[in-house]
Amino acid sequence: QYRSGSDIRETFLRFFETKGHRRVHSSSLVPANDPTLLFTNAGMNQFKDVFLGLEHRDYARATTSQKCVRAGGKHNDLENVGFTRRHHTFFEMLGNFSFGDYFKADAIAYAWELVTSLDWLGIPKEKLYVTIFKGENGVPRDEEAYELWRGQGVPAERIFEFGAKDNFWQMGDTGPCGPCSEIFYDMGMDAAETPGVDKPFGQDDARYVEIWNLVFMQFDRSANGELALLPKPSIDTGAGLERLASVLQGKVSNFETDLFTPLIQKAAELTGVRVSQSASQQVSEPAKGSQGEGDVSGNDLSRAAHGAKQEGVLAPEGKELTGNASLRIIADHARAATFLISDGVLPANEGRGYVLRKILRRGIRHGRLLGQEQPFMGQMVYAVRDEMQVAYPELKESAERVAKVVEAEERQFARVLEVGSAQLDQLIRSEAAGNGSDSGDRWGSGAGTGDGAGFGDGSGFGGGSGSGAGFGDGSGSERRVLHGREAFHLYETYGLPLDFMMDAARDAGIDFDLTGFEEARAEEQARARASWKGGAKQSASPVYRELPKTIFEGYGKLRVEGAEVL
Ligand code: ATP
Ligand code: MG
Ligand code: MG
Ligand code: MG
Repeated sequence: QYRSGSDIRETFLRFFETKGHRRVHSSSLVPANDPTLLFTNAGMNQFKDVFLGLEHRDYARATTSQKCVRAGGKHNDLENVGFTRRHHTFFEMLGNFSFGDYFKADAIAYAWELVTSLDWLGIPKEKLYVTIFKGENGVPRDEEAYELWRGQGVPAERIFEFGAKDNFWQMGDTGPCGPCSEIFYDMGMDAAETPGVDKPFGQDDARYVEIWNLVFMQFDRSANGELALLPKPSIDTGAGLERLASVLQGKVSNFETDLFTPLIQKAAELTGVRVSQSASQQVSEPAKGSQGEGDVSGNDLSRAAHGAKQEGVLAPEGKELTGNASLRIIADHARAATFLISDGVLPANEGRGYVLRKILRRGIRHGRLLGQEQPFMGQMVYAVRDEMQVAYPELKESAERVAKVVEAEERQFARVLEVGSAQLDQLIRSEAAGNGSDSGDRWGSGAGTGDGAGFGDGSGFGGGSGSGAGFGDGSGSERRVLHGREAFHLYETYGLPLDFMMDAARDAGIDFDLTGFEEARAEEQARARASWKGGAKQSASPVYRELPKTIFEGYGKLRVEGAEVL
């Protein structure tokens, strides 16, 4: 029978309550006392000190549905969003935790029962695979987990073994750590990287989806790297609600579940996009009341889907998009922005606020790609509230405030585009002036290509195809170039999106130095990564330079410390 996202969330929590777990509310997306963490990115975050034995609670078993954001820091899925079917910037992680109480045997038995029992989730066993730690770096193979899965009736050929990268977890360089086991679901050959081609588990990342990670905290790593057995081993697990929903609703993509379709609909409505009945996927009648109803305008999604590059943009790993990326990105980013602001983050030029700003602007940018230049993200906030307020009642209180923040950011971004584009124009003018008399036919032959540039919003997957072509002026003088490093400076300083600048260069008839831009960005990212490790503060990147700039003092009492106003 049909299982809604809310039903699955509730089923998970209820299951663990019947096993003696305390239901604990999600903690804030802003980690309470952990400056090394950008955003809460796993269910265990709020229990870190409990696992470390620094804090005691009046329960030894807990279950949560935790708000998570993975858009920066160690886990960064921002650039995956829109390009994979299973990554979001904001998602809900369902988990069960044992603080020195039960261990591996019960954790595995519980997970298997919840996932497969017809009384609970009832996922067919023949679609499931599990992984265990194969042993590496002097840590032995997880024999015990293997036997326990076998004991649950999982056939040997469905148990795969991987190394530390996938199946060993540690909180930091020292402290609690241990092997983990993951449960995967086979989405079938249609979901495969090469649809219809039968590839085994482990060889097709698109077809087999990781739904649940069980971490067995059994060691304590000391500063010299040695592992000691923890006297009271613990359990930490995480299952993605959106992924469970796709499995139980028979969808290959999280974005086709009821957790997303209303938001995608709303995004379509607000951007005036008509969603077509393409490829047996979900969605919708033509958006009512959208502009240009009845006429196949530039906003018609089916045209975008079949004609322009919009659907053909490749992710960094080379995966092809399915469905409409912009709508998915708007839906995803609206959730992230809503929950982040609700938890006290405000758009800023540094730290958490900068990541939020990036998320919001990327959403706005994708609205513009769909032809919507008026504020619309603020309305998305109410849609997110309507979907999520039962599970997260805090949204009831905050939605109005959140929508105001979002709308202010939308208006400000419109101004950024004004100021930034003035700088950009100046740069372009001086570039053009430097070459004086050149007067060739700067539109060359190929003007009007440049389709796929659409998705590169500067946040990492510049779809920089199609620029430049055809702008060779043919007049024989030097080529005029908008230098990548200077463009990157505008990108960093004013937040001008990459493709916006590429467009402007194209319009002015000068080349855009994408290579130089990418180089500058890669250097910046390397600096950010290097300094983020361990929460160091010396980063050159505005993203990570300093963390808590936004101070949450209760609803209605937000202030931003030292935030620059553009
Ligand atoms: P993946 O390998 O798919 O990126 P992960 O191994 O990084 O996932 P974990 O850190 O093990 O994920 O988190 C536990 C669970 O949370 C995963 O099994 C998955 O169901 C879910 N999850 C992780 N990242 C995301 C995301 N970006 N969006 C949605 N769900 C996620
Ligand atoms: Mg991941
Ligand atoms: Mg994984
Ligand atoms: Mg995992």
